[in-house]
Amino acid sequence: NKVFAEIGNFKNKKKILILTGCMIMEKKNIDYLKEKFPYVNLIIGIQKIIELPNLLEKYIKLKKNIINVVDNNYIYEQLPCARDHDFKAFVHVTYGCDKFCTYCIVPYTKGRERSRKFDDILNECSELATLGYKEIVLVGQNINSYGKDLNIKGLTFAKLLNAIAKLNIPRISFLGNHPLDFTLDIIEVINKNSNILPYIHLPLQSGDDHILKLMSRKYDSKKFLSLVQEIKRINPNIVFSTDIIIGFPNETTKEFNNTVKMIKKIKFDSAFIFIYSKRSGTPASKLVDKISYLEKTKRFEKINKIINKIIEENNQKYLNNVYDVLVDSVSKKKSNVLTGRLNTNKIVNFNGSKKLIGQIVKVKIKSSHVHYLIGELTK
Ligand code: SF4
Repeated sequence: NKVFAEIGNFKNKKKILILTGCMIMEKKNIDYLKEKFPYVNLIIGIQKIIELPNLLEKYIKLKKNIINVVDNNYIYEQLPCARDHDFKAFVHVTYGCDKFCTYCIVPYTKGRERSRKFDDILNECSELATLGYKEIVLVGQNINSYGKDLNIKGLTFAKLLNAIAKLNIPRISFLGNHPLDFTLDIIEVINKNSNILPYIHLPLQSGDDHILKLMSRKYDSKKFLSLVQEIKRINPNIVFSTDIIIGFPNETTKEFNNTVKMIKKIKFDSAFIFIYSKRSGTPASKLVDKISYLEKTKRFEKINKIINKIIEENNQKYLNNVYDVLVDSVSKKKSNVLTGRLNTNKIVNFNGSKKLIGQIVKVKIKSSHVHYLIGELTK
């Protein structure tokens, strides 16, 4: 809806209007765009971005709108890349997803899972290391299944991670774990390389086995819990964050309470809680839901309170200790306050000069809040 509203702002602007992204990989959105916004000149699929100069030239010559969205599942390397920071970079490891969770549109819009070549990823990371980048975040929809589609013996995400850790990069982290594909050799690699952050985002989604089945998450609460316990056994310093969906269609109070129980058992360091929202085109969107939105909101508030209490308790462990902090930016509220992150991804605010942005500094934690810590620069 935000995109459609934004497009409206471009009417009569005498610009060439180009739309791209996974949203337009859904046919119904293209049909809607053609009907309501005929002044969108080029609709280009994510995979077609490489053809942008040619398509733009063609449009300028013929003055005829172009739609080109066919997904060829190809990975283009060496494309110019605009980075948000000159000290922290995101590097794609895989694209797409094969898991088909019933609530998720990603496999339909971003296509099937495909891994980048080992050398291409390594070259990109090595270039970033040469440029002095302080942190690389490896990303993928399901990063743990890296390499499966390449059919190269012994090529796994753990192997890739280990190779990247040998480059001269102070911080390496990764996002896009799936409990089904997460392997314990990843933790062994973390243990061997002090520059890989001891922080794992492991989406639980629900703590109830029936709901997990309806979501087609392909694990149950027992498997999730034993994975967390195994990881903790190999490295007790690992901290976990998670994603939770509240109010999946027809989730009963008992099923919701099973999620609460899991949260209390695992004591995540942080959690992103979402109220289920229907994505048209997904199997879950066809389910008739008898649970009211008001009830879902109440559950959301309840679980938020519980998780916030757990986080507050967890945050106590940081007090009076000194940590390395990668300085991200100046606080939005106060110009003399800097915001950075610990190696566990915790946000910390402290007084300092903006010259420190992009550097790793030592900060002593003085107080803690649910969503951030407050610290003081130390020598
Ligand atoms: Fe894939 Fe994640 Fe979507 Fe499931 S939720 S289909 S794992 S992207």
